[in-house]
Parts: sequence; C-alpha cells; structure tokens
Amino acid sequence: MDIIILHRNLRLEDNSALFHGSHKQNYRVLYVYDKHYWSSDGRSPRQFSFFVDCLKELQIGLTKLNSYVEIFQGSYSDLATYIETNYPQSSIHLNHSTDTSYFRDQMSKFKNIFKESQRLKVYEDFGIQTQEFNRDRWSYDWNMQMRKERLDLPKSNLNHEPADLMTLDDFLDSQNIIQRSFQKGGTKEANALLNSFFESRSEGYSKKMSSPHDAEESCSRLSPHIAFGTISIREIYQKLESYYPQSQFKRDLYSFRKRLYWHCHFIQKLETEPELEFNSMHRMCDNLRESENKEFIDRWINGETGFPFMDACMLYLREKGWINFRMRAMIMSFASYNLWQPWQSTSPLLGELFVDYEPGIHIPQVQMQSGVTGINLPRIYSVNKQSLDQDPEAKWIKQIIPSLNDIDPKKIHSADLQTAYISPVVDLKQSAKYARDTIWSIRKGDEFKKIARSVYFKHGSRKRS
Ligand SMILES: Cc1cc2nc3c(=O)[nH]c(=O)nc-3n(C[C@H](O)[C@H](O)[C@H](O)COP(=O)(O)OP(=O)(O)OC[C@H]3O[C@@H](n4cnc5c(N)ncnc54)[C@H](O)[C@@H]3O)c2cc1C
Repeated sequence: MDIIILHRNLRLEDNSALFHGSHKQNYRVLYVYDKHYWSSDGRSPRQFSFFVDCLKELQIGLTKLNSYVEIFQGSYSDLATYIETNYPQSSIHLNHSTDTSYFRDQMSKFKNIFKESQRLKVYEDFGIQTQEFNRDRWSYDWNMQMRKERLDLPKSNLNHEPADLMTLDDFLDSQNIIQRSFQKGGTKEANALLNSFFESRSEGYSKKMSSPHDAEESCSRLSPHIAFGTISIREIYQKLESYYPQSQFKRDLYSFRKRLYWHCHFIQKLETEPELEFNSMHRMCDNLRESENKEFIDRWINGETGFPFMDACMLYLREKGWINFRMRAMIMSFASYNLWQPWQSTSPLLGELFVDYEPGIHIPQVQMQSGVTGINLPRIYSVNKQSLDQDPEAKWIKQIIPSLNDIDPKKIHSADLQTAYISPVVDLKQSAKYARDTIWSIRKGDEFKKIARSVYFKHGSRKRS
C-alpha cells in the first residue's frame, strides 16, 4: 500500500507524491486536516475557502483514476500512529512544503518516526534547495529544476479496500463552511489565468503592475494557485519558455519570468533560516521597535489611518483578498516606518488578508519592507506620493471611499481633509524622518556592517553582487 499525503500541492499533473505513490496502483490519498494549523499565524478562512475549491476539483480528477481524497482529522503525530497501526508495511509519499513553525515542527516529528524504516519519501517541489544549501549554486539549481521533464498524471488505482476515513463530502458537510469567493481555486482556473495572461493580459504588465487599478487585470493573478500548488511553477516556467518566442509582449514576459525566480529565491530564505518567522534577518534590528500601539495597528489593518490612498488599498485588499506588489510594500512600509510598529505583530494580520499567503515570500518581504534585513536599502514609501502617482485623479480612491466623491483630488492626495475624513493617525513627514534617522543611526556602525555581511552570504542574491 502507498499512502500519498497532500498539503499544498493540490494538482494531478506534475505532482511527484501522486505520480510516484501511484506507481504500484495500490494507493490512498489523504489530506491531514489539523484545525490548529488552520488557525495558526497568518492563516484565515479566505485561504481555506480557496483551498476547498482546489480539493473539490482534485477529487473530481481522482475519481476518474478510481481514487479519491480522504480526510484525516488530527495532527501529523496522530497520522503516524494511524499508519503504524493500520499500514505498517506502507510507503508514504509527500511533497516538501516550506511553511511556518507549526507545520515544520509537526513535519519534523513525522519524518523522525519513519527515519529508520525509510518508508517516507519526501519530494522536491519548487526550485528551492532543501538538502544541501549552496547559495553560490542556487541559480544553476533553480534553472535545472525548472527544465526537468514534467511528470505525467498519476496511474489509476486498483485498490478496492473500503476507506475508514472521512470522505471529502462528509468533511465539508461537517465543517459548515460558508464559502466566500475571493479568487476561485483549482487547476482549471490556474490554466485559464495563465493562458489569458500570455495571450493578452500581459500587454503592458511591466508598467501596469504598479497601479492597484490596472494590476488587478494585468498581473497574472496566479499567486494563490502557486501557493496552493494547483499548477506547478515548472509548468508555468516551461509554458512561458515555449510561448515567449511568439509573444508580442516579450519585455513584459521577461519581467514575469524574473518574478518566478524571485518566488523561489524568497522562499529559500525561510527554508534556510526558519527563525525568520520570529527574528529579523539582521538581529540588531529586533531592538528597533519594541512596543506595540494597539490603536495604530487596528487603524492600519482596518483601513482607518486617515490617509485616503493607504485606506483605499487596505479596504480593497480586505474586499478582494489580493493587492499588487507595490501597494503591499507601501502598506507594510507605512506600518513599520510611519507607525513604527514591530513587523512581528503586523505581519500575521496582513498575511491573513491574502488568499495567496505564502509564508516563505510574505515574511522575508515584510522584513525587507520594514528595513530589518540589513542587506537591502531601507525604502520608505510616501503614501501621498504613491497616491498622486498611482491614482492622479483619485478616481480609484473615490470608488472605494465614496464619501470622498466631491473632494478635490489634490486634497485627497495630501490627506488634507479636515472634517471630511478621518484625521491622520500620524504626521507623515515627521514619522518618516524619525524612522529614517533611527534606522540609519544603527546602520552606520561597524558591528551592523559586519552582521550585514554574514546575512548577505546566507541570503543575498548573487546576481546583484
Ligand atoms: C509585504 C509583502 C507581502 C507579500 N506576501 C506575499 C504572499 O504571501 N504570497 C505571495 O505569493 N506573494 C507575496 N508578495 C509578493 C507579491 O506581491 C505577490 O506575489 C504578487 O502581488 C501576486 O500577484 P500575481 O500572482 O498577480 O503576481 P505576478 O506579478 O503575476 O507574478 C507572478 C508570480 O511571481 C511571484 N512573485 C511576484 N512578485 C514577487 C515578489 N516580489 N517576491 C516573490 N515572488 C514574487 C509570485 O509567485 C507571483 O504569483 C508579497 C509582497 C510584499 C511586499
């Protein structure tokens, strides 16, 4: 018997665990539903809703292979006991996932249980190094991984043993899920997005990605699909390579290709140094922002800062479950520089709002936009400048905050609205100056530079060196 465990690789094709686990045609497919995982930092019902779409579609595909998804409710330790008791001779197959500490700790115990018997096979998925970490060879390895031949569909199942675990339908009935659609999950949807992106939506992508209004349509919108693995990053890469020569939007697709690389480059940081979930990449930066201001954080996460563009971005994100890169960076920069809040407090709250929450990208990006990596120059976004640059006539802002409909765009951009809007939570210029002075005062020291060098050797991109 082969036991295949799903986590965040919810697709049939190019799925190593499914492909290899189905080889002997005697297999079971399990998803471990652990409610503690789903309530851990950064996780939220909007991600669960997307995940359910993916699982339902996968179930349809598996049915055609005479198989289906079974739900194991409990922890990975409980699962190990279940397997040892019921299937002591089985082989177990799963794909590696870089995730937060809760999952990682569970997984490490699970792996230890099966270490001696060597029954557990863990397969690579993204282009990250999980065994021998070598930063200097990283780029080469990534390219090799992307060019490997893709794996076919799993073989059909000949095992007719009645299942003793919950079926997906029973599980979904038991959960009372109120599904709210942000983005729809599933491989079909991922392929539709990829095709429409290549054929037309990528026109002007490299410029349009900066505007929250244009980016909604012009970005690929594949992020939750990559995070939940409805399509492999290798498939995206290979389809891109074959589409590229005939594309009229080569410059745009070149920018897209770079981002596929960044995807894994960022995840590698958390994989290499899991402590980044709690500590700043440059440890001296952990002492910068020690105390938390609950009122500031509440106003920030609820879109009530008094800066219309900042608030519009947050309200849009709350509504859609997604926003473009530049606005994510600005939102984070505002919390960390202008509000001077510890990123450890704000990061999970922001993660919960993203359907595409991917800890390996989110946490290092949060750190980068908070100036705590030591290897990236601190960039303090001016909310007022972004407002003017990205939405000069304030049309987008007014759509989201209709109470500002009759107000002159200039006043909106400068957040000079008196009683017409919430009063600003901080003074933008003064708070940015305080942040800049404080950050630079520690960056100048020799000790800071010494630590920064070691951070660079561990995490820095060799392309820039
Ligand atoms: C504070 C902050 C938090 C973020 N959190 C997440 C997160 O939880 N999950 C997530 O997928 N992305 C995150 N990003 C990166 C980026 O904003 C999103 O990947 C992107 O907006 C997703 O939209 P898209 O799929 O249409 O992107 P596209 O522009 O179409 O890019 C294609 C893919 O490339 C990858 N990618 C794009 N930009 C980046 C980047 N800057 N760094 C790493 N990979 C990138 C993503 O996998 C994305 O799906 C974060 C960025 C910031 C500044």
